[in-house]
Formats: sequence, C-alpha cells, structure tokens
Amino acid sequence: MIVLKGAEVSAKIKEEVRAALLSMKSPAPTLAILRVGENPDDISYERSAVKKLTEFGLAVQSHVWPADIEPEAFLREFESINRDPGIDGILLLRPLPKQLQEQEIEHRIDPLKDLDGISPINMAKVFSGDPSGFAPCTAEAVMELLKAYEIPIVGRRVTIVGRSLVVGRPLAMLMLTKHATVTICHTRTADLTAACKNAEILVAAAGSANLITGDMISPGAIVIDVGINVNTDGKLCGDAAFDTLNGIASMATPVPGGVGAVTTAVLAKHLVKAASTRRGHSTPRA
Ligand code: NAP
Repeated sequence: MIVLKGAEVSAKIKEEVRAALLSMKSPAPTLAILRVGENPDDISYERSAVKKLTEFGLAVQSHVWPADIEPEAFLREFESINRDPGIDGILLLRPLPKQLQEQEIEHRIDPLKDLDGISPINMAKVFSGDPSGFAPCTAEAVMELLKAYEIPIVGRRVTIVGRSLVVGRPLAMLMLTKHATVTICHTRTADLTAACKNAEILVAAAGSANLITGDMISPGAIVIDVGINVNTDGKLCGDAAFDTLNGIASMATPVPGGVGAVTTAVLAKHLVKAASTRRGHSTPRA
C-alpha cells in the first residue's frame, strides 16, 4: 500500500505559491484569521495555518474575541475587517458561539475574500463547476492530493462518507466536475459497506474513528481519510482504521500527515488567488 503524504503535496503547492508571489508587488498577501473563544481545535488549526502561511511567505493577522462577545460588537468588528483594503482573505473559525449568527456572516463576507468558500456565491460556483470562486479548503485539498499523485478521476466510482457543507457536499461537486461517478453516504445510508466496497476512490469524512475498515473496501481501492478524531488512547486518528487497509487498499492517506497538511497549503493558494484578483493581476486558478 502506497502511503499518500500530505507534506509532499504541500511542498508542490508551496512552489506554485512562491512562483505566483514573484510576480506580485508587496505587501505580501494578508490573511485575517477570525477566532471567537478558546476552542482548542480552533487554536490548533490557527497555529498550523499561521505556521504554514508564514513559511510560504504570506502574512497572517489573528483576530480573537471572547466567547461571550455581543452579536452587534462582533458584526462591527467583522465588517471593519471585511472592508479593510489591506486584508486579502478571511478565514472564520467555526462553529461560532450560539449568540452569533453564522448565516449572517456567510451572507456578508466579501466573496473575493472568502477563502474557505462559505458565502452562497462561492458555494454556487462550486455547484456549477465555475473555478473562479473558492471551494472549501478541505474539499479542494482532497482534489489537490489526487492531482499531485496523478490519480485519475474521470469515470471512476467515488464514494464519499459525509455530506457536510464543509467537506462532503462540495467535494462531491468537485468530483462531479472532474467526471467521477459519485455516491454520497451519511448516517441514514442503509448499507454503508456496499457503498464503500463499490468505490475505486473512497473518501472518509464522517468524524468517526475506525468507521472504515479493510473488510469494507475493494482490493486496490484508494482511501482518502479526511477525518480527525481522538482515539481511546488519546491519539489523533482518522475515520479509517489505517492498519486494516494494508494489503487491500492500493493507496491511503495517514492521519495525521495526510489531508490536513494539504488543507492549510490550499488556504495559502487561495490567499494568493484572492490577492491577485483584488489587485488586478491575472488570477491563478485554484
Ligand atoms: P460533520 O459536519 O459532523 O459531518 C459529518 C458527516 O458524516 C455527516 O454528513 C454525517 O451524516 C456523516 N456521518 C457521521 N457518522 C457517520 C456514520 N457512522 N456513517 C455514515 N455517515 C456518517 O463533520 P465535517 O465538518 O464534515 O468533518 C468531517 C471530519 O473531517 C471530522 O472528523 C473533521 O474533524 C474532519 N475535518 C478535517 C479537515 C482536514 O483538514 N483534514 C477539515 C475539516 C474537517 P449525517 O449528515 O446523516 O449526520
């Protein structure tokens, strides 16, 4: 079984970003990360995004507010960042605390700064196969990983376990645009094993440790594991029981070290695309 390594894909994206930056005037494209509260998962994602983007030669500002911020105050702060001409891209860490309306932010965010594809305009572009917008970074990271390892998609049977707006659904659209035959599974899927066994490419994005095991996949299948979970030993793991895939899957991504590393690289790529578009350069396609 070939282990598909996120770091290798990230290194390729870094080269693309570096090349695009050569033709851009300073200042460096600038990302604003918006965090409300002290959720450890958000802090960890923020830390890895800051590290990756800085390595890539990009600038990052972190904006942090207390979890009990009033909705009006948050909206005021958000709008000032949304309108700030010095900020090229925005990453809003979610979910937001209950008193804040995510939908309001989704509708207000400038689509040209919406690096994680949360606005209805960017979602519609993903749905219609228009590459000028931004797909959610994780969904696109799966596509980048397949592209970097030259894994063909056209005509292949792809099963995606998970139908969230952040991963499963947009990924299904990106796969369809690349001419895959797509099956989407969720908690009401009657026979998950049958759907998984049917897949030539299986993407697990359920958030459930050990959901996918070797006996659920076809010989030679490619398993892309998006899940991030903590197992009973307190260790980070994906949705697939990685060791059980060996000898059955032809390729698989590990967790950690797989899709996650590519997600922050895609965020960097999106930031350069946003800055190029906003500054009137030719737009590198995401
Ligand atoms: P989510 O919003 O909780 O959605 C999970 C989806 O999986 C839902 O559609 C759910 O079905 C489905 N599901 C859950 N358990 C299932 C089961 N036993 N059988 C079949 N379907 C099942 O999660 P998400 O935001 O999409 O994230 C999914 C995973 O990816 C999480 O582990 C998350 O941490 C990880 N993630 C990773 C990255 C990265 O960069 N690597 C980025 C984002 C998220 P229903 O719709 O029926 O509830």
